[in-house]
Amino acid sequence: TARRAPRVPVRPSVSGLPAYVPGARTPVGAAAYKLSSNENPYPPLPSVVAAIADAADDVNRYPDMYASELVAAIADHLASSSAQDPLAAEVAPFRVTPENVVVGNGSVAVLQHVLEAVLEPGDQVVVPWRSFEAYPIVVAVAGGEMVPVPLTDDARLDLPAMAAAVTDRTRAVLVCTPNNPTGPAVRQDEMDAFLDAVPSDVLVVVDEAYVEFVRDPRVVDGLATLDRHRNVVLVRTFSKAYGLAGLRVGYAVARKRLARAIRATSTPFGVNHLAQHAAIASLAARDELLVRVENVVAERDRMVGLLRDRGWDLPDAQGNFVWFPLGERTVAAAAEAAAAGVLVRPFAGEGIRVSVGEPEATDLLLEVSASWR
Ligand code: PMP
Repeated sequence: TARRAPRVPVRPSVSGLPAYVPGARTPVGAAAYKLSSNENPYPPLPSVVAAIADAADDVNRYPDMYASELVAAIADHLASSSAQDPLAAEVAPFRVTPENVVVGNGSVAVLQHVLEAVLEPGDQVVVPWRSFEAYPIVVAVAGGEMVPVPLTDDARLDLPAMAAAVTDRTRAVLVCTPNNPTGPAVRQDEMDAFLDAVPSDVLVVVDEAYVEFVRDPRVVDGLATLDRHRNVVLVRTFSKAYGLAGLRVGYAVARKRLARAIRATSTPFGVNHLAQHAAIASLAARDELLVRVENVVAERDRMVGLLRDRGWDLPDAQGNFVWFPLGERTVAAAAEAAAAGVLVRPFAGEGIRVSVGEPEATDLLLEVSASWR
C-alpha cells in the first residue's frame, strides 16, 4: 500500500492555540445593543470620515511605510499631554519624539511585534490571568511560553505575585491597566514597587488600551514611568477612546533602541493609508472626541453606582466596561441578556463583561441584570 506523503508540520505551539473568539459583529436575533467588544458607541466624526474619503483617492499607491505624519502627530500629542499634566511635570516626563513611536495594525499586532522584538524561542512571558484573551496567542506566536499569574480576589493584577514569578527564563511581563475584562487599573505605587523588583533586562509591556477612561488619580502615569525605567514599553490604541476599531491603528512608545527593534519586527506597511489619515484627523479632533469619552465615563459611573446601590459587589471599573463576576451562572446570564436585547461578553465559568455605551443600553442592562443575582 502506498504511504501517504508526509504533511507539512504545524508548530505545536500554534496548533494548540486557543481561538480568539470575538463578539458577534452585529447583534443577532432580538439583541439591539452590542456591549460585547468594548467599542466606542459613537460613529466617526464627519471630519474623520472626510479625511478617509480624501485619502481614498490615493489608494493605488502604497501608504507611507512608517506612517511618519501619524507618528509625528502621536509624538506631538503625547509630548503636549504630559507637559500639561502638573503631576507628570514634577517627575520630568518622558519627552516623546517620533523616534519613540511605532504604529501597527491595531495594538494587538503591536503587542505581537513588541514580543517578537525581544523573545527567543522558549523565553517566558509573565501574564496576569484573567486578562486580554489575545495575550496567550501573541505570546505563543512570538515563540514565548506564557506564565499566567492569577488576579487577586478583587480582580486586580497581583503585581507582587507577578514579580515573584519572574525567573532567569523570563524575558517580558505584560501589565494590562485597566485590566480587560475585570476593570481595575494599576496604581503608581504598585507599579513603582513592581519595577524596582523586576530586573532591568526584562521588558515590561504596559498595555494602556483603555487609558483615556481612567479617572482614579492614583493610577500609573505611563510616560512618567517610561521616563524612570528603560525597560518599559507603552502600548495604546485608536480603537477605544478614538473610536477607530474598524480601521486598526495601535502604537507602542519606547526608548529609541527598543522602538527600532519593534519597527524591525513590524509588518511592512502595517497601517493602511485610510487608517493613517483617519488617525491623524482623530488626533486633530481630540477635544471633540474627549467629550465623548467623558460621556462614556459618566455613563460607566452611573451604571456602577446604580448596581452597587442594588447590592452588587463589583470590581473598580476604570475602562469603558463593567465586570460581573458570575462564576458558573455566566453562560446562562449572557443568554438571558441576548434574548432581552443586550449582547454581552461571557467568559464561561468566570463572569460577564459589559461595555458601556448609550444610556438606553445601560437602562436595559440594569433591567436584565436584576435576574443575575
Ligand atoms: N489590549 C487590550 C487590553 C484590549 O482589550 C484590546 C482590545 N480588546 C487590545 C489591546 C487590542 O485592541 P486593538 O487591536 O483594536 O488596538
